[in-house]
Amino acid sequence: MEYKQIEFKKITVDHLTCQSCNAKQHNVIGKLTYLYFFLESIPFVPVKKSINIVCNHCDSSFDVDSLSSSDYKIFSKKLFKLHALIPMYTGVIMVLLALSYWQYNSYQADSLSKEYIESPKVNDFYYINQKGINDEIPHNKKYVLGKVVSLTPNTVSLVFSRFLFENKSSLANDIRSSKVIGVKYFNKKHHVFTREKLLNFYQNETVLSVLRPKNSKLFGTLVLTSNLGINKQVKGYSENRIGLSFMLDADNKASLEDAERFFLESANQGYVQGQLNLARLYLDTNQTDKALAWSKIAALKGYDLAIEFYTQHCNSSEACDIAAFNAELIEAGF
Ligand SMILES: [Zn+2]
Repeated sequence: MEYKQIEFKKITVDHLTCQSCNAKQHNVIGKLTYLYFFLESIPFVPVKKSINIVCNHCDSSFDVDSLSSSDYKIFSKKLFKLHALIPMYTGVIMVLLALSYWQYNSYQADSLSKEYIESPKVNDFYYINQKGINDEIPHNKKYVLGKVVSLTPNTVSLVFSRFLFENKSSLANDIRSSKVIGVKYFNKKHHVFTREKLLNFYQNETVLSVLRPKNSKLFGTLVLTSNLGINKQVKGYSENRIGLSFMLDADNKASLEDAERFFLESANQGYVQGQLNLARLYLDTNQTDKALAWSKIAALKGYDLAIEFYTQHCNSSEACDIAAFNAELIEAGF
């Protein structure tokens, strides 16, 4: 931050008498000191006005303090006209504009986040502060990126990034650098929340913002890819894919029924992912026993996510016996 003084305006008057040569004509010069950053040519804000008076005949300076106060006022008014001063506030004006632009943008982002969380869609990205979910998360690992993977009329399932961050800005960096496309970027575990819970998370700033990709892009960077093309030959694979695509629209009851039908076909062909997705759908629609039965079938084939699912939800059913399940697992060789 530095200061610069410039000659702002000059007028000529002929009613003052030079204290040295008695000449009448004087130049009255308005000087302005302003504050600037970096560039002298862009004044930030004027800080001081001063007046110099010089005799036109002998160049000696006239003692400004001896001016009558009405003269001083008149000179000051003529030299420092308001409209001429406005450009001297360029820096302040630019900063105010930038602030209001930034505020407008963050206001817009906020209102979009709210809209998105009220009507979630698959592939929405969430900035999450895990402290709001689990108080024991260490401070330097509190931020996590979430992504919506499936929806039911009552619940939203998210996967969380494998990486945990100290700073919120790291989340955007991972998006900008396309890291989120990586097959292993997100953990496979589904975190299922009711829609109401998600709204609470937004209100208590556990969910900080929600981003919805447009044309698979966020911040101009590709963040979604289709992972079609693997294991297409496996029985039950394509039925499971179709089921998943119906889950994208699971808000719609008909789509949910279609998803169930395709997951069931996939599951009946022995495809473990199809069996687990069917189990998830049953769980989300409060058919816990069916959910446990199907996840158990996949679990006993050694599918780790199904084992986790069964273990996690066993206590929601009185009929479920975790010890017996563990014994069966061991017998099956896992
Ligand atoms: Zn003079």
